[in-house]
Amino acid sequence: MAPDFVEEFGQVLERMREVWLAPNGQPFVIAGSGTLAMDLAVANLVEPGDKALLINTGYFSDRMGAILERYGCQVDQITASVGERPTSEEVRDALSKQSYKLLAFTHVDTSTGVLGDAKGWTQLAREAGTLSILDGVCSIAGEELRQEDWGVDVALTASQKAVGVPPGLALLVASSRAMDAFRTRRHPVSNYYADWTNWLPIMEAYEARKPAYFGTPAVNLILALNVSLAQILAEGMEQRFRRHREMSQAIKEAVTELELSQVPTKNEFAASTMTAPLYPEGVDASLIGHAKEAGAIFAGGLHPQIKNKYFRIGHMGITDSGEVLATISALEKGLKKAGYNFEPGRGVAAAQRILSG
Ligand SMILES: *Cc1c(COP(=O)(O)O)cnc(C)c1O
Repeated sequence: MAPDFVEEFGQVLERMREVWLAPNGQPFVIAGSGTLAMDLAVANLVEPGDKALLINTGYFSDRMGAILERYGCQVDQITASVGERPTSEEVRDALSKQSYKLLAFTHVDTSTGVLGDAKGWTQLAREAGTLSILDGVCSIAGEELRQEDWGVDVALTASQKAVGVPPGLALLVASSRAMDAFRTRRHPVSNYYADWTNWLPIMEAYEARKPAYFGTPAVNLILALNVSLAQILAEGMEQRFRRHREMSQAIKEAVTELELSQVPTKNEFAASTMTAPLYPEGVDASLIGHAKEAGAIFAGGLHPQIKNKYFRIGHMGITDSGEVLATISALEKGLKKAGYNFEPGRGVAAAQRILSG
């Protein structure tokens, strides 16, 4: 209720529209993790018996499928082999065979580093009169996203990834089409905490600089979010997209120079917020421990089919050249310790060529 907090929360909501590039969207900020943001999107848009098409590119797509089914949705899935993504033709084809209320997909698949064709798939959904949900937990505020231009209906994320805030906030922006679909529901939302009926008046009140209560807001995190959103906008969205692409290219060139392959089979659909290299011949997950000693924390594999064959490097948010070089240096030290035969410095030099280009 404190006036200074009311002002900051109001700013957060306004700034989210700018970061999402959705000037007419409705932002929601609710305490919880990214999974709550997925739950919010589905609970408010799906009614029992609705049909959804899910483009499944990995671990978090599986989760989206489970959430859709939990709310009584019939789910059809399009899949691709690990490291690939379905083609536009496959998506167009599936959308033309049936009438779907929703298309759901993961923008950056955190388990593979595969980048979804957010613009193209959303366009196909629009042409079919289908709403779209973009899981942007590993992408928003790093990967290029133009929610309104592209026509994405719900673009969701969490505070702790490319937005760069401690974990604990579910964030999403809903289009006016999504809000219309919500307002014209035939059944009440079957999740009490997630129901926009409860939260919409709260978001509207704070944006009008009036306090309102449904559930206690996560005050400390909302203050942190406001700081981060201001930093993101001070950098500017275009520059932010460019920087993420450049840092990513430096990491990927270094990894390639060290003769490590990557999970995404083509560079054109490799994410710019993370890199997923495969362990080279003779090297195993002990690399992660060695790299940690050298100062970089890598994540292990997540996709069940290839879990022990690869690792993941996150480079989203504030990642800069210095961190990229330190990370590649630690990777090289880790590889050396793991017994890999290569010429030290090659990866660092490749990254530096991109960064000084
Ligand atoms: C991390 C992540 C989630 C889940 O977010 P939590 O905050 O861990 O609940 C969902 N989708 C994607 C793509 C993610 O990367």
